[in-house]
Amino acid sequence: MRKVAIYGKGGIGKSTTTQNTVAGLAEMGRKVMVVGCDPKADSTRLLLGGLAQRSVLDTLREEGEDVDLSDVRSPGFAGSLCVESGGPEPGVGCAGRGIITSINLLEQLGAYNESENLDYVFYDVLGDVVCGGFAMPIRDGKAEEIYIVCSGEMMAMYAANNICKGILKFAESGKVRLGGLICNSRKVDNEKEMIAEFARRLGTQMIHFVPRDNDVQRAEINRKTVIEWDPACNQAGEYRSLAKAIEGNTMFVIPKPLAIPELESLLMEYGLFN
Ligand code: ADP
Ligand code: MG
Repeated sequence: MRKVAIYGKGGIGKSTTTQNTVAGLAEMGRKVMVVGCDPKADSTRLLLGGLAQRSVLDTLREEGEDVDLSDVRSPGFAGSLCVESGGPEPGVGCAGRGIITSINLLEQLGAYNESENLDYVFYDVLGDVVCGGFAMPIRDGKAEEIYIVCSGEMMAMYAANNICKGILKFAESGKVRLGGLICNSRKVDNEKEMIAEFARRLGTQMIHFVPRDNDVQRAEINRKTVIEWDPACNQAGEYRSLAKAIEGNTMFVIPKPLAIPELESLLMEYGLFN
């Protein structure tokens, strides 16, 4: 079973990209479980057709400890399996706790057992790895393969670089590796070239360039992944390519984060400030 985590700045497109990639893998016949690790609990909406998935934390609050796998895990598009860890009420407690509680519960309930025949588990993790809870999937070896969603916008690159610092910190003592950057385009000038170069300097690769396309919004309003909503459209093909690239990936590295001046000079070189 491949243990994948998707990190990146808030709003960059982690949940959209994760669900569409999972749809692509599921279409290829892979058995995939998605664990949403964002207190927003919106990591599985497109795979579930908008059905509200009760989060692990809410289920535990309402039902107590005696829960079944089917109480916290729902079947989604093409045989995918969907879990939302959820979070505390806003302003109360550490949001990262939800991830720890959820993964522990899933383990106890046998969700990762061999008999489940999972090919992949995907963790869709909130961008901030500074807090222990959000670093947990990489710290405790729950995820071994990290993809960072970023764009050519400075703050997205800055966040990606910080996430690399987090990976570096835990890679030396564990198995976690960076599998690549997924460029989710914001139509910045020279974006594809700049992110490919950014990836190269980090010691990794740009595994796919996902164009910005309004079909993503059209599918979203219909509560579907693009692959389910319009399997023949161009963007569906892009997500299939990303799924295939992840399936065939062999480049797993310990990243080399950039110093801030290096990051700034990269942005300068690619013409943003000309
Ligand atoms: P995150 O999970 O990183 O916070 P989301 O996946 O929720 O981000 O994405 C935020 C919004 O960006 C989504 O509502 C979606 O409509 C839009 N979006 C993401 N990727 C694309 C894309 N490639 N083209 C167009 N819109 C996109
Ligand atoms: Mg999200």
